[in-house]
Amino acid sequence: TNIERRCLLESHLVDALKNHELSLHYQPLFSLQHQGVIGAEVLLRWHSPLLGNVPPDQFISLAENNGQIIAIGNFVLHTAIEQAAQWLCRYPNKQFRIAINISPLQFRDVDFANYIANLLSLYQLPPSSLELEITEGVLLQDEQQAKHIIDRLQTLGVKISLDDFGTGYSSLSYLQKYSFDTLKIDRCFITNLEKNEQDRELTRAIIAMGKKLTINVIAEGVETQAQDDFIRQEECDFGQGYLYGKPIDAISFERSYLTNKQIND
Ligand code: C2E
Ligand code: CA
Ligand code: CA
Repeated sequence: TNIERRCLLESHLVDALKNHELSLHYQPLFSLQHQGVIGAEVLLRWHSPLLGNVPPDQFISLAENNGQIIAIGNFVLHTAIEQAAQWLCRYPNKQFRIAINISPLQFRDVDFANYIANLLSLYQLPPSSLELEITEGVLLQDEQQAKHIIDRLQTLGVKISLDDFGTGYSSLSYLQKYSFDTLKIDRCFITNLEKNEQDRELTRAIIAMGKKLTINVIAEGVETQAQDDFIRQEECDFGQGYLYGKPIDAISFERSYLTNKQIND
């Protein structure tokens, strides 16, 4: 049953970090205007010797329920920031950024912005090369604290991106309260662009709104040339999806997108 599966996963997840079963994949963020990779989103991977590969959709919520997401999230931050700093050192590029998903629980720590500031100086990564992806879940909890942390991060120069845009309840009021650097249009709008007129209108409207508010827009889950054509025609800034590249490990990412200088200056 579902409950049994969750219990099983949870009992194995406890030691996953300690046993080095967690790793990071990197998926290219593609500039539609420059036709090149300008960064990567970091995606957590769990390979359990007993359970095999477990997708994040199955274990992140467990880790959020038992609080483990803090330790796991810190591992992600350390690993990805160190990796980005190394890449930036080897392949200097002002544009390059690494986008890291942040759980609402990580935002409950009043000192979260300081934690980030310390990591940036520890690994010598310029703040503008770091983007943190948050969802509405972050903003739904203690709103004042969230605002305080976001302000502090943006003052440092860290970018904030609103993930899964369009799927929540009141995203528009959040656009009024915060000045996000990036909006990520949820994959559910992109998937049926070819078939569905309404999805086309909504996607068009979100891109236009981003432009008016001078927020960068990323379309998520772009898989086909027709989807790419559409978002390009609407002058969307960035695309992410299997069409441009799947999430891959750091070594493969470096080989595919950094060494052969596909990156734009
Ligand atoms: P997300 O932040 O919306 O990440 C995008 C998801 O879409 C990733 O799934 C990615 O592999 C998938 N994707 C990208 N392009 C395509 C495409 O063209 N087609 C399809 N069908 N899928 C595509 P993934 O890696 O399974 O991650 C799922 C979710 O788990 C993420 O959704 C994010 O909410 C969460 N997650 C992943 N890594 C972390 C992490 O380090 N920390 C936290 N808190 N959450 C994470
Ligand atoms: Ca994300
Ligand atoms: Ca997303």
